[in-house]
Amino acid sequence: MKRLYPTLLAAAALAAVCGVMMSATLGAGVDFRGVLSRGLVAAALIGLAGAAALRPQYQRSGGGGVKGAVPQDQKRTCTFQNVAANEQALNSLMELKDYLKQPEKYVKYGARMPRGVLLYGPPGTGKTLLARALAGEAGVPFFALSGSDFVEKFVGVGASRVRELFKKARKAGRCVIFIDEIDAMGKKRDEASSDERDQTLNALLSEMSGFYTGDGVVVIAATNRIEMLDPALLRPGRFDRQIEVGLPGWSERLSILKLHGKNKPLSEGVSLERMAAQTVGFSGASLENLLNEAAILAAARDDGAIEKEDIDRAFRKTVAGEDRPSVASARERNVVAVHEAGHALVNRLLLPENRLARVSILPSGHGAAGYNLTIPAERVMVGKRELESQICVLLAGRAAEQVVFGEAALTAGAANDIARATELAAAMVLELGLNGEPAVSVRVLQRQCGGAGDAADGCRALLRRLYDETGELIKQNIRALDRLAERLLEAEALDGEEAEAVLDAALSNDRRESA
Ligand code: ADP
Ligand code: ZN
Repeated sequence: MKRLYPTLLAAAALAAVCGVMMSATLGAGVDFRGVLSRGLVAAALIGLAGAAALRPQYQRSGGGGVKGAVPQDQKRTCTFQNVAANEQALNSLMELKDYLKQPEKYVKYGARMPRGVLLYGPPGTGKTLLARALAGEAGVPFFALSGSDFVEKFVGVGASRVRELFKKARKAGRCVIFIDEIDAMGKKRDEASSDERDQTLNALLSEMSGFYTGDGVVVIAATNRIEMLDPALLRPGRFDRQIEVGLPGWSERLSILKLHGKNKPLSEGVSLERMAAQTVGFSGASLENLLNEAAILAAARDDGAIEKEDIDRAFRKTVAGEDRPSVASARERNVVAVHEAGHALVNRLLLPENRLARVSILPSGHGAAGYNLTIPAERVMVGKRELESQICVLLAGRAAEQVVFGEAALTAGAANDIARATELAAAMVLELGLNGEPAVSVRVLQRQCGGAGDAADGCRALLRRLYDETGELIKQNIRALDRLAERLLEAEALDGEEAEAVLDAALSNDRRESA
């Protein structure tokens, strides 16, 4: 099956809809798996932006950003036992472990081992961990560098660093060389080519072709942007084995949580199954980070165990940032309550499978004036209905403000919402053939024929239609919106179940009265 790499726009936009590891098979023979999950957003967070733009953050923990060559014995030995999930990658590395242990055997059979293995996938999915584990398992030194360390202003510096690294590695005998962020040095040459980078890349390629099977050297590179790589890197004899390391699904998240929860005193009330269900779109690193944050909270309290409340608070803290006291005026609070209630209402009506986890009108640590936190359903496909509905949910904050306070009173707080809605609409019109022209990729037309007529008009019309529909939907259900906004003003933050209950009660009341 041929892999297609949609542009960053479509990938990021789609990932944002699902906030999940999304494997959308769009038609026969076209495999979008994993690609769409690039630039992933954990749970879909729709906020009313305050002073700073709202951006969920993913801290990386351990293993990341290794600088300089680090011989294995200076680090705690890491083995395949330290890796959960990632079956496919583990199987592939298993074979290399045997090779690293006895390269002679492979020489005897005349096998040509892959010189380079490329691990690709979103950040935090365990690529560095896998490479380290391979070295640990085989008991050979581990040399790690980041591609960005090689990118220098002066021509020749990067290339000589590459040669230096390989010289050191050769001295060590059998070993694993790990190059993180290889895209920094191996970008496609036609895109912003530079002499320095070309020389660095050439040095790497020639060093790699200097190895023989008997040397027992494996070069592992990692990237989260495989589509940016120079094809020369992927040719036979180079990084010719490519392994996708994708975001974990529910059961994989569960096994990662179990692994990292093993040495932590989790109370009876903590359900790792529930945590795995709540963390759609989280990478291994964000899961590890979540457990760690919960452990820190529990340690500060120091009553012997990590409680469910610690996990919930850590979840909110990692995805949205901690609540901060409100400094808004009564009028501003009112606007925020209506705005957030709008998102929650339209989400409940159009995408009930996306569960609300929290609705808040307290400013968040990440700079939002309020937010909705939703846990998207785990999907393998995303369709026109979900995309349109997601745009409506994004636009619902502003639409609610307009319905309740009128156009003249609109605030700047919806900037992030409308930017994301517009990105989604553009992806639908330009690349996905999900607006009007089901068989046309406007993006390809633009590239091949120059210009593609009225694409921007198409996006505008789509957004206009969905915005109007959202406004109508809110008007029809205005009582539910009012109820939730009132509750928010009283309570400031509601957990998802309560917010859903308030909405459902008001909605079924309306239905009964109109029947
Ligand atoms: P990447 O190189 O893909 O960005 P890392 O290997 O640096 O990701 O992962 C960072 C940390 O996240 C690891 O050190 C580990 O604690 C945790 N982690 C990520 N994926 C896994 C996994 N599959 N199993 C266990 N831990 C994981
Ligand atoms: Zn909003």
